[in-house]
Amino acid sequence: MRQRGTDMCRDGIGPWLPLFAMAMTIAQGADAHAGAREASMRITILYNNVSPTMGLTSGWGFSCLVEGLEKTILFDTGGDGDVLLANMARLGIDPKGVDVVFLSHIHADHIGGLDAFLAQHPGAEVILPAGFPPAFLAAISGRGAAARMMSAGGRFMDRCYTTGPLQDGIVEQAMIVETEKGIVVITGCAHPGIARIAASAIRLTGRGIHLLLGGFHLLRKSPMETAAIISRLQSLGVAKVAPSHCTGEAATTMFRQAWGSDFIEGGLGSVIEVPLREGP
Ligand SMILES: [Zn+2]
Ligand SMILES: [Zn+2]
Repeated sequence: MRQRGTDMCRDGIGPWLPLFAMAMTIAQGADAHAGAREASMRITILYNNVSPTMGLTSGWGFSCLVEGLEKTILFDTGGDGDVLLANMARLGIDPKGVDVVFLSHIHADHIGGLDAFLAQHPGAEVILPAGFPPAFLAAISGRGAAARMMSAGGRFMDRCYTTGPLQDGIVEQAMIVETEKGIVVITGCAHPGIARIAASAIRLTGRGIHLLLGGFHLLRKSPMETAAIISRLQSLGVAKVAPSHCTGEAATTMFRQAWGSDFIEGGLGSVIEVPLREGP
């Protein structure tokens, strides 16, 4: 399941190194990851080719941990299980604390770490979009884990929705979390189109997007095409953005300029907190 060749999200474009300076927080030790149903949700970027953070290993792919909800969710698993587990250990995150693994799509840089993760923690439920091959499901059950196929958009636990499988050559689902400030939409690679995903999340929940985070898949887009996508997202009212992974450096720079102080760094090791409910 390791990343290889050009069958993944970069579409044959080589890995690139981030040139921009980062201001990010590293969660300090295990205490930061204890407890559930908190006042805010916390997203920790565990795997990314963007913005290596001291002490963490970068690699092509994406994974993040979502905490503070009814259950703790691992969104995608990066390309390499050893790297994923090492980054989790470095951040004081126990794999056994994960209740749900949400897979966006079948590209190796998103599912590559799954087997090693389930070997450590077969108790997790794996949520995946309908269309994954039977052999993949068999491998999940082979590890003793439960698989849940999502064939349409809808809620899968308190506050959490899938867009359902969206198609564009490859089937992909995005994850949506309802918060006090609007929805948070997390994308793996956004192969079906980041604007299309954003629009379908808004339609599904009837709420505005507070934060759009993950891979936006704009590596091959021209500046003009990216500008059109940015303007579409702005017209949809997307308040904050945290693009990384397969967004591409040039597009990321355009997003940073367009959103200004509402641009959030989403590289490896970033921790992003979003309030879930009104304060006391
Ligand atoms: Zn992909
Ligand atoms: Zn990808």
